[in-house]
Amino acid sequence: MSAKIIDGKAIAADLRARVAGEVATFRAAAGRAPGLAVVLVGEDPASSVYVRSKGRATREAGMESIEHRLPADTDTATLLALVAQLNADAGVDGILVQLPLPAGVDTQAVLLAIDPDKDVDGFHPVNAGRLATGMPGFVPCTPLGCIMLLKSVHPTLSGMDAVVVGRSNIVGKPMAQLLIAESCTVTVAHSRTRDLPAVVRRADIVVAAVGIAGLVKGDWIRPGATVIDVGINRTDTGLVGDVDFAGAVQVAGAITPVPGGVGPMTIACLLANTLDSARRREGVA
Ligand code: NDP
Repeated sequence: MSAKIIDGKAIAADLRARVAGEVATFRAAAGRAPGLAVVLVGEDPASSVYVRSKGRATREAGMESIEHRLPADTDTATLLALVAQLNADAGVDGILVQLPLPAGVDTQAVLLAIDPDKDVDGFHPVNAGRLATGMPGFVPCTPLGCIMLLKSVHPTLSGMDAVVVGRSNIVGKPMAQLLIAESCTVTVAHSRTRDLPAVVRRADIVVAAVGIAGLVKGDWIRPGATVIDVGINRTDTGLVGDVDFAGAVQVAGAITPVPGGVGPMTIACLLANTLDSARRREGVA
């Protein structure tokens, strides 16, 4: 048996096309484009690539991309002043500060300063709290994309056993919250979990968000399970996920590839969150 490959690229392209169509409607109603401000501090090569591709995707969707590139020695006070300026700017619907910030900058203070109603990354504690309590807010883009990929296979997730491997604030924890909201029975595993293979074997749904190439082996996967691989690990053989794809594809019912699975959904969801923000702020349906 070989698993169905979940085509994140195609699903993300559909979402981006839908957002672009709705942006055109928004522009006609509001008389302006939704605006996404991206702040990049320093020259980290991976961050520069992400910021460039976010800018391109934003413009392709018909939105305005406002990019602020600051030198690596920028201090916390300067960043806080920029965030305050973006919070006050009526043309800015989303603010995204590219992480990691250089050592010496108070990352926590900068993220806390972002207006939660412009926090399209969904990293602000107010939005984490909204997610945990079922209130409307911004949901972090990567887990939001994972839920969409899962729903492409299982339109309803109710009652399924889900195991999330990883408990970070940006992926694992919000992923678990979203799965709870979908009425899954959720287990969150991490580096202290005892007998991880046995925990993963219980799962109808496995979400791996660890950052260790090939950690989750094929024989950990329950036959027919759906596997979402969030990991992005650079190796000598190229980009690989946190799941041993060659092994897991033989056992799973459906699986995301790396690249071409979760990655493309993250940017598409960022665009969707920015459009949502613009609509809420302008009161446009
Ligand atoms: P973090 O490093 O913040 O978190 C990793 C988590 O994995 C931690 O909770 C850690 O446990 C857990 N962990 C580490 N080792 C093990 C182990 N041996 N067994 C079980 N759990 C373990 O990573 P992120 O959540 O930020 O990212 C995870 C991966 O997803 C990375 O590869 C990253 O590149 C990728 N990513 C991909 C995105 C995309 O768009 N596709 C977006 C964001 C991230 P503990 O808490 O106990 O330390």
